[in-house]
Amino acid sequence: MFTKNIIAELERRETPLYYYDLSLLRDTLQKAVDAAAPYGYHIHYALKANFNDRVLQYIQQAGIGADCVSGNEVLKAVEIGFSPDKIVFAGVGKSDKEINQALDAGIFAFNVESVQELSVISQLARAKSAKARVALRINPNVDAHTHHYITTGLDENKFGIKTWELNDCLATLKANQENIELIGIHFHVGSQITDLNVFKSLCTKVNEFNQWFDERGYRVKVLNVGGGLGVDYQEPDERPIVDFEAYFSIFDQFLPKFPGQEVHFELGRALVAQCGTLVSRVLYVKNGLKKNFLVLDAGMTELMRPALYQAYHKIERLSMDAPHGEAVKYDVVGPICESTDCFGKEVTLPVSHRGDLIAIRTAGAYGEVMASRYNLRNEIRYLYSDEIEE
Ligand SMILES: *Cc1c(COP(=O)(O)O)cnc(C)c1O
Repeated sequence: MFTKNIIAELERRETPLYYYDLSLLRDTLQKAVDAAAPYGYHIHYALKANFNDRVLQYIQQAGIGADCVSGNEVLKAVEIGFSPDKIVFAGVGKSDKEINQALDAGIFAFNVESVQELSVISQLARAKSAKARVALRINPNVDAHTHHYITTGLDENKFGIKTWELNDCLATLKANQENIELIGIHFHVGSQITDLNVFKSLCTKVNEFNQWFDERGYRVKVLNVGGGLGVDYQEPDERPIVDFEAYFSIFDQFLPKFPGQEVHFELGRALVAQCGTLVSRVLYVKNGLKKNFLVLDAGMTELMRPALYQAYHKIERLSMDAPHGEAVKYDVVGPICESTDCFGKEVTLPVSHRGDLIAIRTAGAYGEVMASRYNLRNEIRYLYSDEIEE
């Protein structure tokens, strides 16, 4: 993965920086598109995972749509060149301004998260003599068996419309037919889901809701099953690309469609996580009685996932020379004034020194996008693989 040329270039660069492997990104997108094609499945990319312009351009060129969770993401998707009829807008707290921006952009659909939001979209559409296409985001009460901070499909979560609110939704839709059109039902149960059985359970729920709407005279065009497909944080080089075939085949087997229905997916992490690496340098080595610390020049301000959800990222020492000396266990920490600013505890690495390059892998999703200027840190720097001569 990190060839001599890449490491030589990194040695010349100021750190921390995000390194993006654009050929891995291209291969990943191609595999996803190829795996979806036999079933006629539509993929939208969740911009919130990574809205770096270069990354977005590759995704747009692969023919994938955009799943946005803010007005600015909608504007960004339009600016990058995503066709409005491939843009959807989700989010539990869309402001009037954001709804208006999306109406003006003429997006494909709003994924609506409450009965009240339905009325607001209808009013704002009426003011523009427009008709908004909506999908109802239903909270199916499916346990994603992932970290509790990133499950979204349980009754106790803030997301989506609860089952007992669906009759109210239908009444609101009926009363506002001129300005809102129901085109789909939408689900998203969590993130970093690695147990495909979770998606089987989701299919069962989607079937029930699909029937429920059909029986009431609404044959929705779109079944949107959200995203959430997980990646391998442990061994990024062994499985750099997710098994998209296995994923889509679950839906093919367990999610029957009525004639004319389409299935839509909203993948974020699975498309971009492995193409990004946070590259850092060792500033200081602290050898203690009980613990050894590597203090890096990157911290939670560049990659917040470990501090935010105790997420695991593989940490490697990048070097052109073979490791010399024995392996040592280090707590790998950042420079930020917070005790949670730690990338990994008891990480086994070759004996390391001030100035060594350290790679924090699988940082392409929910990495750069969550960066902050806390401690008045620098803006993010980049190196893209196509800047390096082979
Ligand atoms: C975050 C999000 C996604 C993408 O999730 P991943 O786990 O990155 O695939 C898809 N849909 C919605 C509504 C989301 O909020």
